[in-house]
Amino acid sequence: MKPAIKALLLDMDGVLYHGEKAIPEALEFMLRVGDMPHAFITNNPILPPASVADRLEGMGFKRPDEQRIITSAEATAIWLAKQKTDFRYFAVGAEGLHLALSERGQEDRQQADFVVVGEGPGIDFESITTGTNLILKQGARLVSTNPDHSVDAHHEGSHRVLPGGGALVAPFAVATGIQPVIIGKPQPLLYEMAAERIGASMAGCLMIGDRPDTDIAGAARLGMKTALVRTGRFARGTPYPVELPSPDWDIDSLSALSQIIF
Ligand SMILES: [Mg+2]
Repeated sequence: MKPAIKALLLDMDGVLYHGEKAIPEALEFMLRVGDMPHAFITNNPILPPASVADRLEGMGFKRPDEQRIITSAEATAIWLAKQKTDFRYFAVGAEGLHLALSERGQEDRQQADFVVVGEGPGIDFESITTGTNLILKQGARLVSTNPDHSVDAHHEGSHRVLPGGGALVAPFAVATGIQPVIIGKPQPLLYEMAAERIGASMAGCLMIGDRPDTDIAGAARLGMKTALVRTGRFARGTPYPVELPSPDWDIDSLSALSQIIF
């Protein structure tokens, strides 16, 4: 009997592609998904949803509706607006973060309510100093888009490890002695927003990801079904961490998952 899965939440990097290249099984898998309710959720706050959609299309996937793409930057902006309408922020990170925040709040380096740290360029001595002073003197809250210690980057065939959101927020946390509010996976917000957007219940959702500590752990704690694909960070043969919730399916590629759920 096929499991009762009504909707899919998909991580992207390491699940659908590596760098600029689609994983071939993922192209086939997404064809099978077709019109089934699904959303893409990513801890990566660097690119805005429109650019993510362009990238997917460029790799050979059907261009997804931008509403189906939820980045940690979008989720952060929505969360901040819930805390305070017309919030003021000081943000450190790449374009996607600045764009998402500017749609709902106002940048203010003097009177920010929130110091928001994402990923990518932007962090330097000056920005750490500005953020630290806003937190210690103005009572601004420290917010991190995602907790990843490091992330993979692929460019023209070469692979590099880049510092992730968790690493980039660390100088602010150390300088102030204040721990950040963390938005991305494994925290519930991204999953909840995605499920709500596609009208799915937690129990009817299957989360597909490549990281046990973020993708799988967060979804399992919310009562979602989970599938770990070993095409990304967590390679075949690596023992699953015993302290984390086990995935419902631990598979080598998306074609194996296709056979299970379709
Ligand atoms: Mg991933």
